[in-house]
Amino acid sequence: MSDKIKLIYIAGNSFSGSTLLSFLVGSNPTVENLGELKFFDKKKDKNCTCGQTKINCEFWKHFDQGEYNLTPKLTLIEKYTFLIKTLLGLKIKNTNNNQFDDLKLIQDLYKEKLATNPDMTFILDSSKSIWRLNQLVQFEEIELYVIYIKRGIYANIASMKKRPRFNFFRALYTYKFKHLLIKKYLKLHKLSHINIEHEDVCADAQKELDKIGKQLKLTFENYEENLKNRKFHVTSGNYGTNKQILKGFEGVNNEVSTYPNLSKLQLKILDLLS
Ligand SMILES: [Zn+2]
Repeated sequence: MSDKIKLIYIAGNSFSGSTLLSFLVGSNPTVENLGELKFFDKKKDKNCTCGQTKINCEFWKHFDQGEYNLTPKLTLIEKYTFLIKTLLGLKIKNTNNNQFDDLKLIQDLYKEKLATNPDMTFILDSSKSIWRLNQLVQFEEIELYVIYIKRGIYANIASMKKRPRFNFFRALYTYKFKHLLIKKYLKLHKLSHINIEHEDVCADAQKELDKIGKQLKLTFENYEENLKNRKFHVTSGNYGTNKQILKGFEGVNNEVSTYPNLSKLQLKILDLLS
């Protein structure tokens, strides 16, 4: 039997429903959802879905941010080199891997989770970033299972546009570019992955979980009950979804979307592109 750490990684664009998906997959008692690990060293006073702040949380308090010397954020040059090389079909080796504690952090998190949940088989990281995936790919100690989540262009862009940092064109460019990059990257590294559409999750979560379960050899039973009863320690992701997890899961919202924050012209542009 392999003693590698089995890690489920959710890749995708921002505001694609990855937080909801991470909880749904994390409803399985053998999966521990750790949220977006790329934000591990963000603010200590962040709220955890257990109801405590990160520093007072019974899980995260064991992990002092200062103790881990993690790979720094990419410089602009590194970012563009990575993007251009990936688009050209060239792999980038992360030579920094051994200098930093990224692997150690994952191993420590794994150990801590295993101590409280001996049935655990997988940990889940919903970071979405392809750069982070590129780090994880190079750790021989990790066995990766990638889920690639997509959300329809109208809903994803309408959701991005609600945030001050995105105007319509920036959101459109980010959406198109990220998906191009992810597809190229997964192909380049021959990474097998499970494709999931957010809209399908909303329409029939059980069906999508069964699809994931088939690949991961997991059975998803009573996910709604599990989500209601299980305590999660997640300090990142969608605020509304996290709040629902803390208050008590009430089921997946399947309302038909309208996009009041997109103008007629913007909708026309998306019609042409989709
Ligand atoms: Zn917590």
